[in-house]
Amino acid sequence: MAVAYELDPTFGRVVQGRSGVPILRCYFCQKCTAGCPVAYAMDYKPAQIVRLVQLGQKDAVLSSTAIWLCVGCETCGTRCPNQIRLAPMFDALRYMALEGGYKPEPSVYALHRSFLDSIRLWGRVHELSMLMQYKLRSRDLFSDLMMGIGLILKGKISFLPERIRGVSQVRKLYETGSSEVER
Ligand code: SF4
Ligand code: SF4
Repeated sequence: MAVAYELDPTFGRVVQGRSGVPILRCYFCQKCTAGCPVAYAMDYKPAQIVRLVQLGQKDAVLSSTAIWLCVGCETCGTRCPNQIRLAPMFDALRYMALEGGYKPEPSVYALHRSFLDSIRLWGRVHELSMLMQYKLRSRDLFSDLMMGIGLILKGKISFLPERIRGVSQVRKLYETGSSEVER
């Protein structure tokens, strides 16, 4: 039986406002989906998410796994004929999902939190401590262990973290939730 989702006619405008992305310009050419490296794993493809947002399908969008899978690579933004960048849209949708009490995909959310915590702490990602945090959060302690050790031994992952000089500026982003930091 098909799931009936409630419509929210204001949803498209709200997402457009919060993300700063002109989503309402999208005419569903699907170039974003064609280039997206993680579209194969999404329940709704990037262009379908945009369409659902336009149509006010708030529940369907905020409960989808797709919003947790975007890796922010920006490929879609470079292909879109309407200059629509989907990474900021997906960021806004993730926040809206959390605010609305929608359940995130656990392992993706664990990686998302660990990534953000690493940037808050060091001003940049420190892969080793981020992965350790991710392993603890996801309770998946041993998969890929040998590969991780191999990468450390080859010097591909640095053992000790380095804090960047302007880390306080980065932390302001977390406090304000804004992308505008005083220069
Ligand atoms: S590439 Fe742009 S216009 Fe085309 S479907 Fe994706 S967001 Fe819409
Ligand atoms: S930014 Fe997100 S939606 Fe766009 S191509 Fe990359 S992973 Fe896909």
